[in-house]
Order: sequence, then C-alpha cells, then structure tokens
Amino acid sequence: MSITGGNVVGLGSGLYAWLPPKRGWGLANCGLLVSDRDALWIDTPYDTVLAGQFLAESRKLLPGGVDIARVIVTHANGDHFWGAGVLPGAEIIATREAREHIHYDPTPQQQHALVAGSDPATPLGAYLARHFGAFDWSATEQVMPTTYFTGELELTLGDYPVQVTSLPPAHTGGDLIVHLPVQRTVFSGDVIFSSTPGQPGDHPVHWAGPLDNVIDACERVLATGAEVIVPGHGPVLDPAGVREHIGYLAYVRERAHALHAGGVPAPEAARRVIAEGRYPALGLPERLVVTIGSEYRHLDGSVMPGVLQVMAEVAEVARETEAAYTGGPA
Ligand SMILES: [Zn+2]
Repeated sequence: MSITGGNVVGLGSGLYAWLPPKRGWGLANCGLLVSDRDALWIDTPYDTVLAGQFLAESRKLLPGGVDIARVIVTHANGDHFWGAGVLPGAEIIATREAREHIHYDPTPQQQHALVAGSDPATPLGAYLARHFGAFDWSATEQVMPTTYFTGELELTLGDYPVQVTSLPPAHTGGDLIVHLPVQRTVFSGDVIFSSTPGQPGDHPVHWAGPLDNVIDACERVLATGAEVIVPGHGPVLDPAGVREHIGYLAYVRERAHALHAGGVPAPEAARRVIAEGRYPALGLPERLVVTIGSEYRHLDGSVMPGVLQVMAEVAEVARETEAAYTGGPA
C-alpha cells in the first residue's frame, strides 16, 4: 500500500505549493518555483512514490528544456528531504546544522527496516505500522546536501529573488525559512504546523526547541511582510493564521513551564495538557510528548532519550488517548 494523490496550488508569479492528500505524520507541503529558464523545489515528499508524483505534476508546469535543478531543504527530517533522489544531479541546499543533523536520524533504509520489523503487538510497533507503514523507503538511498550555509543565502531564479534564512534550533537543529518577496510568500518548514477552522491539522512536533525559538521563528516569518505562508504541514495561512499558531505555542510553553515547576514528569505533563482539551480539532495530540519533552530539556538540562524511547512514549499516550475518546479500555 502506498499513499497517492496531492494537490498543486498556484500562488502566482511561477510559484506553486504541492499539498499532500491528507494530514498525518510524514505528509509535508512542498514548493515549486518556475522561471522561463530554471526551476527549483522547496522540500520533497517523504518517499519516492510521492516524490515521483510531485515531479510529474511539476514537469507539467515547466517550460520546454527546463528541469528542477535545485532543492532547498527546510530541515533534515526525511519527510522534507528523502524524495530528493528522484532528481539525481540536483543541487541540494540546506543549513550546515541540518547537514550535521542527518547523522543523528535513521537512514531511509534503517527506517524502512524499523517499521517493517516492529512487532505490531506492541504499542510502538502498532503505532509505527499505522502512521509510517504506507511509505516505502526500501530502495531509497540517503541523499546529502551539496550546498550548505549558516545565516542568509540569497539566490535568484530567473528574475525572482529567493531569500533563505537559517534559524536557531527550533523544530530541529537546522531549520531554515524561504522568503519569496515577489510572490509575497514564505515557506516556513516545520516551525509552523497549521490548522484553520475548515481544515484542522495536527499538533506540531518539535524535537529541538525551546519553544521561545519556535515563536521567534514565527515572528520572523511575519516580519518578512509575506501575505501567504506555506507551513511544513497543514493548510496555507495568512498572517492572522500565523498569529493564532503563535497563541498555540505560547499556551504549550506556559503549561510546560508550570507543570515542570510543579515537578510533573514530561510524559505526564503531556497527558495533562491533552486532557485540558484546549485544541480538540487537532490530530495526533500524543506529539505533545515530544514537544513538551524538548521544552523540559531546556528547563532542566536533561538529555534526550533515544528517538525510539520517545516514540514508545508517544505510542503509549496515543493508545491511552484514543481509548479515552472511544470509551474503550486503556
Ligand atoms: Zn515535517
């Protein structure tokens, strides 16, 4: 089984957003910018099936003789990056910190083996199968950035300026945002996971933090003056939508700090924030285990347990939460 579909939305002046067919882990938005002599992607889908579909859709929009020569990677999580193999020879641009981050994440083939080999009788195995089992990385080779930087990078594509800015640790340790001033648009990567009343999204998941840095990154997006914000996941936003998202982040930060001060351990703090039910329309509330855990590490200097241990806690909280919603046994 694989995931298919996705939707290309024109944003004007050669700019397009590719929105995946549904929400959930690993289904990220991507960008395509086209001039009369060049084209680039901002991020790639998670696996080669989806990336191949995005490529086919992209090529319908390219002038004759033009192909995608560059990919700007907003951060080094695979759901924004591992599809780059469908563009052999493309320049791949990321922050220096993202390039380092790659060595801490599993490779595509390691992740494939992990998901395929997990015991579905355990909460973690069931969770991985359910949320990651439809992707296929069995033949995906790890792609590495070819160009990396810290600070500001200004590119041009045809006549369009492309302003790329690296960020302090926020969603990961190597995030960047892409500002397209002619199109008055920012691709924010995963410093924003959006939701709107008609299109509820998922809770963000922040692996680095602190949340102050995530909020600062959102403020930086607003400071560009862009009118259209394409988040890493979820529907396209206007500045008011980003302000609302900052409100979510400030709420989680405030609750995390109060619960930490009260001596409540991180997974339990996530359970309590979920039980408050402040954002009932958002999916995957168990991701608060990760985000609040990251915030705690900045408060007490503790070290992140392994990703698998964190994901096991995420899976356990998901199991409890779903049982609570359905009234079934926990
Ligand atoms: Zn993502």
